[in-house]
Amino acid sequence: MMRNSLAHTDLNCLLHPQTDPAALVAQGPLILESGDGVFVTDSSGRSYLEGMSSLWCASLGFNEPRLARAAADQISRLGTYHTFNRRSNPAVIELAERLLALSPMPDGKALFANSGSEAVDTMIKLAWLYHSGRGAPERRKIISRRRAYHGSTVLGATLSGLPSMRGAFAWPDPGVIFAEAPHFYTCAEAGESEEAFVDRLVAEVAALIAAEGAGSIAAMIAEPVMGAGGVIIPPSGYFPKLAELLREKGILLLSDEVICGFGRTGEWFGCQTFGFRPDMMSVAKALSSGYQPIGATLLTAEIHDVVSAEASRLGVLGHGFTYAGHPVTSAVALETLKIYEEMDLLAQVRARAPAFLDHINALAGHPLVGEARAVGLIGAVELVADRATRRPFASEAGIGARLVTLALDQGLIVRNLGDAIAICPPLIVTTAELELLFNRLRQALDALA
Ligand code: PLP
Repeated sequence: MMRNSLAHTDLNCLLHPQTDPAALVAQGPLILESGDGVFVTDSSGRSYLEGMSSLWCASLGFNEPRLARAAADQISRLGTYHTFNRRSNPAVIELAERLLALSPMPDGKALFANSGSEAVDTMIKLAWLYHSGRGAPERRKIISRRRAYHGSTVLGATLSGLPSMRGAFAWPDPGVIFAEAPHFYTCAEAGESEEAFVDRLVAEVAALIAAEGAGSIAAMIAEPVMGAGGVIIPPSGYFPKLAELLREKGILLLSDEVICGFGRTGEWFGCQTFGFRPDMMSVAKALSSGYQPIGATLLTAEIHDVVSAEASRLGVLGHGFTYAGHPVTSAVALETLKIYEEMDLLAQVRARAPAFLDHINALAGHPLVGEARAVGLIGAVELVADRATRRPFASEAGIGARLVTLALDQGLIVRNLGDAIAICPPLIVTTAELELLFNRLRQALDALA
């Protein structure tokens, strides 16, 4: 196919997710053809520094040869198989063992899926099964948070607190209760300290629980750092206090680690950075550095014992996906985890994080930036119309989207979440590449000012 006809064929044949169809027609698709470390190249030969790791996942960059070999080797041995009805394969077994050993629930269990959304759906089903196994099947409601993102399936969209996800798609009357997002910058009251803000948010959750009745609530789901909601980093104290409240009320705490997992926040998992012990976790994305579609739900031994007894009572664990535990995706994820351990991923992230934070903080002085925030190697700058009053831009201004286009002109891929500009580079990023990333971002900001 001729290169210039690729865009034409794309427009003729593809419906793009999370895309405004009118903007697609106006601007055409951005067709990426190759990658080299933290850079990707489009079909016209232009190179971009990928400041978003694709969608928060390509921690090892875009052309890691060991992952190519792991996939090829596995395909040549056993190219596909399922894990229903006692079937297993060496790759998924070794992956589960290594994944659990890295996790804060080493004596727990892993149940695989193909994506973050599926891992989240699985986690909710297991929470229901757990309560029914404990004789409380009426515990069905889930607490989520405004600005949360938990995936794109019907359940994921229903749990999400973003208008674009819920608008046409949330399931009617689903029993999801929304608490406030822990964003001090936009949600704190005038003069409120961070500690008072945390206490207010936790008291609000306590009030929601009291209003609904604790006995009707199965779980609360939360991202340690809210990703698609704008990279919202909770104040310290928020999660430990929340976890204590939920434990008192018999409500499970589910950590959606789809973005935060595998070193992004400076620990293996976000729950470790923010000081809480979840009952279950969903992981995906960086589990395979994004090279294969994979997700997993991790559950503690205590949850597993109840869930498996209940599944046996019912005759079967009536849940599963054809490709869950797929040998090829598992082999690639296993190799990814081996690379992370060999390169001492946490040391690498912790070595780069101070420079990342310095670069982000340097942007805080820019006339368009209201707040700059980061933890580990994930961060955002929040664009505002008025820094003194924190007044946001009118949504019609589309300021975030305009910045993303200007950044592309500078050879940088970042993502706008409303007017928050997210930055989440591959974890292999070097100091020089970080410098280049932020130089390009500043040039884009200056072009917008
Ligand atoms: N949960 C969180 C926190 C996410 O950020 C995402 C995707 O970005 C998902 C779930 C859904 O993952 P996937 O797109 O792999 O289904």
